[in-house]
Amino acid sequence: MTNARYFSGFLLVLLGLGSFTAQPLPQDWRTPFERDSTWSAEWKEAYAYLDRLDEVSDRISIRTFGESDGFLPLREVVISSPEVTTPQEARARNKVVLLINNAIHPGESAGVDACLMLAREMALEDRWQEVLEDMVIVMIPYYNLDGGYARRPHTRANQQGPAMQGFRGNGKNLDLNRDFIKCDSRNARSFTELFHYWDPDLFVDTHTSNGADYQATITVIATQPDKLPSGLKAYQQELLLPALYKGMEEKHWTMTPYVHTDGPPESGIHGFLDLPRYSTGYAALFQTLGFMPETHMLKPFSQRVYSTKAFLETICETAMRQKTDLLEARANARREVLATSIWPLQWQLDTSRVDSIWFGGYAHGYRPSAVSGLPRLFYDRDQPFYQQIPYYPAYTPILSAERPWGWIIPQAWTSIMERLAWNDIRMHRIVGDTLLRAPALRIISEETSDRPYEGHYLHAQVDVAEEMDTLLVRDGDVWIPADQPGIAYLMATMDPRAPDSWFAWNFLDAILNQKEYFSAYVFEDLADQMLNSDPELRRLFDHQRTLEPQWKTDPNAALEWIYRHSEYYEPTHRRYPIVRIMEPTGFRLRPYQGTSPRD
Ligand SMILES: [Zn+2]
Repeated sequence: MTNARYFSGFLLVLLGLGSFTAQPLPQDWRTPFERDSTWSAEWKEAYAYLDRLDEVSDRISIRTFGESDGFLPLREVVISSPEVTTPQEARARNKVVLLINNAIHPGESAGVDACLMLAREMALEDRWQEVLEDMVIVMIPYYNLDGGYARRPHTRANQQGPAMQGFRGNGKNLDLNRDFIKCDSRNARSFTELFHYWDPDLFVDTHTSNGADYQATITVIATQPDKLPSGLKAYQQELLLPALYKGMEEKHWTMTPYVHTDGPPESGIHGFLDLPRYSTGYAALFQTLGFMPETHMLKPFSQRVYSTKAFLETICETAMRQKTDLLEARANARREVLATSIWPLQWQLDTSRVDSIWFGGYAHGYRPSAVSGLPRLFYDRDQPFYQQIPYYPAYTPILSAERPWGWIIPQAWTSIMERLAWNDIRMHRIVGDTLLRAPALRIISEETSDRPYEGHYLHAQVDVAEEMDTLLVRDGDVWIPADQPGIAYLMATMDPRAPDSWFAWNFLDAILNQKEYFSAYVFEDLADQMLNSDPELRRLFDHQRTLEPQWKTDPNAALEWIYRHSEYYEPTHRRYPIVRIMEPTGFRLRPYQGTSPRD
C-alpha cells in the first residue's frame, strides 16, 4: 500500500477502529461468508474486500499479475510484516514464501472465503506478527475468474452449498488444474510467470473433493514424495506432513490423506500421482512443496471454509517453526537436482509397499436402486467406524532417462520456446549452420486418445528408437543447457515418453504425417532397379516378404517397404525434432531474446 493509504489507515486507528486484537470484530469487517454462512464471495466481492484491507493495513499489497481467458484481472495479495512487495526483499530477509491458489475449480470455493478471513486476521491482528516476520504469504484470491463469473446454484450436484457455485471450466472450457504444462489458458501463462517471480517454498491449491463418504471434513494431497529430491522428500514426509496432521488435530480438524481409492476406503487408499499437469505436480518440478487440501463435498460449506482456514493457518505456523529446516531442505534439493543424472519419466503405484493408517469412515452397503432397480452403493452415517486401513503411499519409476548435456530445438517450434521462457528456462541461439552427428529419436508408435481431453488428443505409450544421424543445425536454432535449475521441468517435458511431454500434448504432431509420397506405377521400375543393384536390400526384402502376408495381396505394400528403405523416404517423418546432445559440444552461442531469431 502507499503512504497515503497508510495515513487513511492511521486515521481509522485514531477513530478507534484500529488495534483489533482481542476485540470483537467490528461488523464492518465481516466477510461475505461471515454475513451469510451459505454464501461464498464472488470474485468482485473478494477483490473489493481485499482492497479495503489494503487501505487500512500496511501488511498487505495487491497487484494485478495477469488476466483470465475471459479478460478478467488476476490479482495477487501479498501479506507480510514488515511489508515486502518483491521476492528479492523476501530472500534478503530470509523469509519463507507461501503461495496460495484459490478457486482453480470455482465450485470448490472454500479457500476463497478462508483466505478473506485469514487475510483480515493477518492484516489487522498482532498474533500473526511473528509469522509474518518470517514469511511472505502470496494469495491468488480467485484463479478461475471466468468459471467464477458463471455461478449458478446447481453447478455441483452432490455438494452441500454454497448457495451459488462457480463452474469448473474457464472461459475456454478448460480445467485449469490440467493446464500447468500445456498452458493453453492465459490464466496458466499468468500463473507460470507469477510462480517463477516468487519462486515459492510452499504452495497450497485449495479444493473440494468428490467420491466416497467418510468422517473427515478435510483431506490433503501432498505432492507425491517419490518424485522429490531425497532430502526434500525426507523433510516433507518426516517433518512437515506430521506437523500439519498434528496441527490440524490440535485445531480439532482430523485430517487424513486424500481418499484416492478404487473401492470403498476400507479396501485401501492409494497415494495420488500428481503429474506435472496438476498444480502440485508442476510445483514439485521446481522443488516447491505443494499441497491440495480437499474438503469433503457432503460437509456443510461453513465447515469446509473453517477447516481450509485451519489448514492454511497450520501451514503458516509450521513453516515459521520449521523455517530453517525448510529453507535448507529446499536449497539442498536445488543442488541435488543439478547433480542428478538419471531421471524417471513414468511411474506406477508400488502395490508391494503398504502402510496402514487410522481412518474414520462409514459402513457401506448396497441396496436396490429406486431409479434403476439395480444394486446401489450407500454409506450409513449411523454406522461410523474408526479402524486401520491399508495405505499405498509409494510410486516406483517404470521408465527413466539419462540427463543429456542439453537439447537443441529447431527455431520453428516457437510455442515450446514460449513456454520454456515463461518457466525461466535459460536458452541460447546457436550461431552458424552446423552439421552434427547426434542420437536422434524416432517415434515408433504411440497410442492416441480417441476423444479430446482438455482440447487435446493425448499421446501415451510412446515407443521410440534411437539412431545416430547427421543433422543440420541452423543458425538461430535454440540451445537449452541441461545444467540449470529448471532441469526437472525440462526432463518432464522434452522426452516424448514422459506423460506430460510436449509430444504427449500434441505440440509436435505435425511430425507424424508423411509429406511426400510416390506414384506406384512410376516407382515400380525404380524399386526393381534398387533391388537388383543392392544385394543387401534384396536379402532384407526377401526376408521381410516371409513376415508380411499382405504383400501377397496388396501390391503397394511391398513398394511402400522399398520406398521407406530408400533415399527417397523423407528422413524427418516421425523423427523427433528436439535433439538431445549427450556430450559437450562447442557451439557458438548468442543470447535468446524472443521467439524470433531476429529479436
Ligand atoms: Zn478441485
